[in-house]
Amino acid sequence: MTTYMQEDSRTLIDMLRYAASYHADVEVITRAVEDGSLRRSSYGEVYRRTCQLANALAALGLGFQDRVGTMAWNTDRHLEAWYAVAGQGAICHTVNPRLYADQIEYIIRHAGDRFLMVDLDILPVVQGIADRLECVEVLIVMTSAEHMPAQLDVPQQVYCYEELVAGHSAEMNWPGFPQDTLSSLCYTSGTTGNPKGVAYTHASNLAHAISAAQPDSMNLSTAQSVLMVVPMFHANSWGIAYSAPMTGSRLVLPGSRLDGASIWELLDGERVSFSAAVPTVWNLLLAYLKETGRELPHLSEVVIGGSAVPRSMMEVFDREYGVTVIHAWGMTEMSPLGSVCRLTPAMTEWDAEKQLQQRLKQGRPPFGVEMQIVDDKGNELPHDGEAFGRLLVRGPWVVERYYLADEPAVDEQGWFDTGDVATIDEYGFMKITDRAKDVIKSGGEWISSVDLENAAMAHPDVDLAAVIGMPHPKWEERPLLIVKLKPGRESGKAEIIDFLADKVARWWLPDEVVFVEDIPLTATGKLNKLALRQRHLD
Ligand code: ADP
Repeated sequence: MTTYMQEDSRTLIDMLRYAASYHADVEVITRAVEDGSLRRSSYGEVYRRTCQLANALAALGLGFQDRVGTMAWNTDRHLEAWYAVAGQGAICHTVNPRLYADQIEYIIRHAGDRFLMVDLDILPVVQGIADRLECVEVLIVMTSAEHMPAQLDVPQQVYCYEELVAGHSAEMNWPGFPQDTLSSLCYTSGTTGNPKGVAYTHASNLAHAISAAQPDSMNLSTAQSVLMVVPMFHANSWGIAYSAPMTGSRLVLPGSRLDGASIWELLDGERVSFSAAVPTVWNLLLAYLKETGRELPHLSEVVIGGSAVPRSMMEVFDREYGVTVIHAWGMTEMSPLGSVCRLTPAMTEWDAEKQLQQRLKQGRPPFGVEMQIVDDKGNELPHDGEAFGRLLVRGPWVVERYYLADEPAVDEQGWFDTGDVATIDEYGFMKITDRAKDVIKSGGEWISSVDLENAAMAHPDVDLAAVIGMPHPKWEERPLLIVKLKPGRESGKAEIIDFLADKVARWWLPDEVVFVEDIPLTATGKLNKLALRQRHLD
């Protein structure tokens, strides 16, 4: 066939190369892992160092489609590693350093990482398992010579990042390869069974990055100063590590410090206009603001996802700080963006309560993601905002098969079952009602643990709330509400139940409320329901 238009041969490195050509002076600011100081770089500088690192990795023998594990916070060095590895056709495998050591070991061995790049403060975790990581030949400590530990008792060859980079040329001939070549790998945290790897391609990440930057998604552009809080090891930092250079957004990277004071300092000092993170991080920030009376004069929007945004969080951001919360939903298997909640112009005419209710939904899928809800028999359910069922998705940045799996992860029509239960309303806005495995089945009906948790979290004394299903002889399951109170507060069971009485259906009211000192969270900052079940159901 005669071709009339040129082939799309772009790979991920082209995004950074573009940033270096057209946004060379746009700043990339990092809070150093070593001492918390701020390091100022730029897309031009990051690109030059990426070339140097790529040359260094090639000289150490890194081959096409070899895996390079990273255990690192959001820093300029981590950004350079992403692009250097994928740019030369190897696979960048982000490992969540907050996982248990045996999960980390499993993931690295399953991926067969040949190289491992590790931040200084994460090194002790790696040292503890280094003997068992036979696949790993090279360990690169992501620090400078002055902070480099003198001797590391590990079987791998050890290098210092800055020394490696300094010894190599800033000219790089990036190889060409098909867009369906794997670029990166990220494992889900495996709350049931072993973690599963999602392997992204250059094509899937490119398509996702272009989508994520759109005005109705993250709205990234040269006008934005972006604080990328969501970790690069947590579902691709929601694509921002690609979309920011692609659009020339100024990029602020918080390193390992995600406490309220450190985040505020960056938001304020770096005049950040946009940020993205899970609710846990924003809770810490809001507590800090309340305690200190500080404000957020520069911040305009925050995208929040990973777990449902509590109503109180949206209200406080809006009313007290003038910051718009944009609710988003996604998962590692979706690169991760699946939906973003931005009201249509017509909806902004609605009364305030109705707007808020709509904004608490997870929103509409961007072009590229298809979505449907089905009942247990696989019949499609109506989009009336009432019917709820399993949420299925498909599209060019949705998983087809887990890394090295024998079977596909999708059905014959290509639908991937998200494991979430949701409604979709007449406007196409999706609302997650629960995870399929967390939903409480009571007397043949479903109770949404998420809705109950959010209702409880609105109580002024409640710091954190979790709901799990307790086995029940008559009803099959009944909700158990687990509450962590704010320091010095004293609400009891009766007060909490009273508070919930007009907010949820009567038969949803928890049978029991237990008060605890702490509620366990997963490595990605979500309520750890597995641990809660183990703890409370005995
Ligand atoms: P992990 O289980 O490893 O934390 P992900 O970060 O990929 O993996 O989690 C994806 C899941 O997180 C989704 O399937 C959904 O249950 C939940 N989730 C993500 N965003 C939201 C949101 N805005 N509201 C409710 N749940 C969410």
